[in-house]
Amino acid sequence: MSAKYIFVTGGVVSSIGKGITVASIGRILKNRGFDISVIKLDPYLNVDPGTMSPYQHGEVFVTEDGGETDLDLGHYERFIDIELNKKSNVTAGQVYLSLITKERKGDFLGGTIQTIPHVTNEIKHHITDLAESLDVDVMVVEVGGTVGDIEGLPFLEAIRQLRNDVGRENVYFIHLTLLPNLNVANELKTKPTQHSVSELRSIGIQPDALICRSQGEVPDFVIDKLSLFCDVNKEEVIPLIDVDNVYRVPMILEGYGLGNSITKTLGLPPGSISNNNSWSSAISEMDALEEVVSIALVGKYVEYPDAYMSVKEAITHAGLRVGRRTQIKWVHSEDLERDGAEQHLSDVSGIVVPGGFGKRGVEGMILAAEYARTNNIPYLGLCLGMQVMIIEWCRNVLNLFQADSEEFQPDTPNPVIHVMPDQMNVTNKGGTMRLGMYPCSLDLKSKSHGFYESNLVEERHRHRFELNNAYREAMEESGICFAGLSPDGTLVEIAESSQHDFMVGVQFHPEFRSRPTLPHPLFVGFLDSVKQMLREGAQFSFNEVET
Ligand code: GLN
Repeated sequence: MSAKYIFVTGGVVSSIGKGITVASIGRILKNRGFDISVIKLDPYLNVDPGTMSPYQHGEVFVTEDGGETDLDLGHYERFIDIELNKKSNVTAGQVYLSLITKERKGDFLGGTIQTIPHVTNEIKHHITDLAESLDVDVMVVEVGGTVGDIEGLPFLEAIRQLRNDVGRENVYFIHLTLLPNLNVANELKTKPTQHSVSELRSIGIQPDALICRSQGEVPDFVIDKLSLFCDVNKEEVIPLIDVDNVYRVPMILEGYGLGNSITKTLGLPPGSISNNNSWSSAISEMDALEEVVSIALVGKYVEYPDAYMSVKEAITHAGLRVGRRTQIKWVHSEDLERDGAEQHLSDVSGIVVPGGFGKRGVEGMILAAEYARTNNIPYLGLCLGMQVMIIEWCRNVLNLFQADSEEFQPDTPNPVIHVMPDQMNVTNKGGTMRLGMYPCSLDLKSKSHGFYESNLVEERHRHRFELNNAYREAMEESGICFAGLSPDGTLVEIAESSQHDFMVGVQFHPEFRSRPTLPHPLFVGFLDSVKQMLREGAQFSFNEVET
């Protein structure tokens, strides 16, 4: 059977939660027993988000095959429990790069290269080729940006054409919009949605379903009005009221009949929704958790938590496994440099230092590692978080006072973290780091081996620097256990302190592999340790935290 396609567009405002909605649609279909995959189309001109600032774009999600992709792919993987790849995220930059490379090679000799049909063909082939190669029942496609954006037009035109190419009966269009509430009149306004749908229709796309975000209840007459003006069946005008727990969204949409409408329109068997149970019971358990543990996440983009999306989610998932609701205290590493660690970390029971690039804020992260080490507070270092743990150890335990990473101080006399040999001559920035899944063999005597319960694991990477082997012996003699190494023994993947209950740094990003129903063993180990060592009175007020 050839694949069916669901296209999801967004209207009215950006950041409307399309990624979560698409991930939820994926979960609904997976629950009903379909094989599915997802593609995110991003209309910007960067080839990938790897070179964008986290302030612009949030986290860069890394796929197993080393794709540096949009953070929405993280939502898809977590919600649907699938593995995506580089091809699951297409940007306008990639489309044009591929097209212009072909043009230079002479593939179109004699021809004029135009938006229609060349750009649109490139987009369409990408979508259908991936659906065919994965042999999925349904390919869900998220169109990034907001309807009305100039740069999104070739993508919308491509999906309009694709409906004819694959047959109308094989395509389902969903448009996600916002119903703003005017406080003065206390009235939900439908006009922005009407305009957005009318814009879509002017380019030939009539949505089959409308999902309308709203802060509060949506009265029936509003649904009726939207149905009338937008020409969408009432049953398919679905209100999506803000929720505390995004993992609830699949159940909400399913409750409004979206799964039935999709399967019916696409001529798919309805499937059984009974295996909904494992997902919904996990999410209900998550909502019921009461006892709280407080975890500090010490980074330099903390005012924009999207930059640490997968880390935040991985902590939540592991909390569910150990039966604790987790509160994250977002701590700016530069604040530690100014005020000292005690002031910001005395009220937490565990410390996570996530990944990052560049010198700004690093000394604060080193202070966080020192505070964790000297107070025996569970510490989990992720990529840069491992590197700062090592720098701190070398400075304060080995007395190599100038120990540093070549990234921050290229001429340091003690480059305990140094550039990987195969990175030395790399000058291009985009897509050139050590990226994607690599194996790691575990030391049988290590704590990490106990968490993983495995001798060999695979984890996703995104870094240029690594632990300098010249310092390994001295570190080992002073109490560092190199719990995980590349199978040839040359690269340190996991370092842990033998003297602490939980002081573990990893050169990779375990957060990318965590799922709500399958939390990552290292995060579970970390939270288990936090739970056992719970610091007396370590809790802070809710207004400075996010759960
Ligand atoms: N900047 C460090 C490196 O490139 C760490 C990268 C990261 O945390 N992802 O090695």
